[in-house]
Amino acid sequence: MPDTTTLAQAKPAKASVARTEHFDVVIVGAGISGIGGAYHLTTQSPGRSFVVLESQESFGGTWLTHKYPGIRSDSDLYTFGYRFKPWTGKPIATAHEIRTYMNEVIDDNDLARHIRYRHKIISASWSSQDNLWTLEGVRTDTGEAVRFTANFLWMCQGYYRHDEGYTPEWQGMESFKGRIVHPQTWPEDLDYSGKKVVVIGSGATAATVIPAIAEKSEHVTMLQRSPTYFIPARNANDLADTLRQLEVDETWIHEIVRRKILHDQAVFTKRSFEEPEQVKKDLLAGVSAYLGPDHNLDPHFMPSYRPWRQRIAFVPDGDLFRAVRSGKASVVTDEIEKFVENGILLKSGKVLEADIIVTATGFHLNVMGDIGFAVDGKPLDFADTVTYRGMMFTGVPNMVWVFGYFRASWTLRADLVADFVCRLLGHMQEKGARKVGVTLRPEDKDMKLLPWIDPENFNPGYLMRGMHLLPKRGEKPEWQHTQDYWGEKNIFPAIDLDDPAFVYG
Ligand SMILES: Cc1cc2nc3c(=O)[nH]c(=O)nc-3n(C[C@H](O)[C@H](O)[C@H](O)COP(=O)(O)OP(=O)(O)OC[C@H]3O[C@@H](n4cnc5c(N)ncnc54)[C@H](O)[C@@H]3O)c2cc1C
Repeated sequence: MPDTTTLAQAKPAKASVARTEHFDVVIVGAGISGIGGAYHLTTQSPGRSFVVLESQESFGGTWLTHKYPGIRSDSDLYTFGYRFKPWTGKPIATAHEIRTYMNEVIDDNDLARHIRYRHKIISASWSSQDNLWTLEGVRTDTGEAVRFTANFLWMCQGYYRHDEGYTPEWQGMESFKGRIVHPQTWPEDLDYSGKKVVVIGSGATAATVIPAIAEKSEHVTMLQRSPTYFIPARNANDLADTLRQLEVDETWIHEIVRRKILHDQAVFTKRSFEEPEQVKKDLLAGVSAYLGPDHNLDPHFMPSYRPWRQRIAFVPDGDLFRAVRSGKASVVTDEIEKFVENGILLKSGKVLEADIIVTATGFHLNVMGDIGFAVDGKPLDFADTVTYRGMMFTGVPNMVWVFGYFRASWTLRADLVADFVCRLLGHMQEKGARKVGVTLRPEDKDMKLLPWIDPENFNPGYLMRGMHLLPKRGEKPEWQHTQDYWGEKNIFPAIDLDDPAFVYG
């Protein structure tokens, strides 16, 4: 790894930074995107120096941060897994299984030497004079200031703040005598055995925590403002199991099963737009099969919105519904008036008694890892930029961000964006360019600029709360994150890097 002490000497360093290290590429974040990025750089763009900077003590990102009981994926690992590494376990995996898989990627490809843990990046500034990014950060273990320079910045820092979840302010919270816990910072010592627990929320997290703690608790109540769609089904993939019985090679199984799942998802998504009422009926029938014929789905399991406006969580083996059926868990659809000493007073006037309240109320969306960005000395507000295909931004050179899919597995896009980055780096090298940016072309100048995503299309709370922070999209597909894997898998490899939208220097 080259150490550009010379560069540090040329520019006066802050007294607390001992030296500046230089890399061709800096990847921020060692989650599924960053580790994938490191793999792709090593295999598709060998010879480039790079480092992965990660603020936490290990790799995994989402799968390290979340430690609540039952923590698992809500989409299948054949597609959430990387394109290049077969998944051989059950489709829905625990955080531990996902980290084990990622660890194998790190070991098999000798990536550990490229990763620096406990390196939190605080600022990133681009200099057009030097064609370099300078990243300043701090070591979270020693407090030591660190500085890196890079020709290219690959942002794999995800989309939400890792050190705290989002909890709304409710009146009377301080008067509640029990414990209030957010799943993202689940206390190791939390003893819920024999306790009354209320879980606020009805998303994938609530659906995971509730069955995981139902057995030991006295009772768990899911308190939801409105119901959510779920897909309850056996945690198995019949096609994968058959192919294994036939002793088909795991590499083939991975590819075939991925294609089958993606095909089925595409059909499902299309149907949910074209015949939402029928899709709704099918989804409700799936829930009913686990709850039993006597259980009325209305009001607790009957969403009012169109399927696919929010991510639909897979409920492996219908465990949430089995917990409800057993009587260990129940659902209340109501609104919170305020917290009281012994629980929650609802708008209906009823009090939900609780010893522990779990606020499964979502994330704090953050843009670019709360890093303060500047371009040529001017602070950068990403909301003032326009995105090129949800990965590059006008006025921000030599940088790509990985933002995955909402309705398909995130990693599908992480792989596609990685191919694009490696191709772009190669193209810059061929052209002898030190800088690449994106700009609106003459024909784009009158294009209407819109929020990052159409709320009519997809509208979970964390996005609605944070939309004003995100880059703008344009009306044309080049200037938006289309959320369409099926289109992008063909379009991305064919992107003309000499299109006038790309400006080299
Ligand atoms: C509980 C949960 C379950 C999910 N399940 C699924 C699922 O089943 N399928 C799916 O497709 N998606 C799922 N998602 C979405 C999920 O976040 C992504 O799929 C994926 O894991 C994101 O990977 P990532 O590497 O891009 O980001 P992250 O996992 O968020 O990792 C980003 C990393 O960057 C680091 N970082 C951030 N800022 C800085 C900084 N300033 N300096 C240094 N390091 C920094 C963070 O510490 C973190 O380790 C889930 C999300 C959550 C919260």
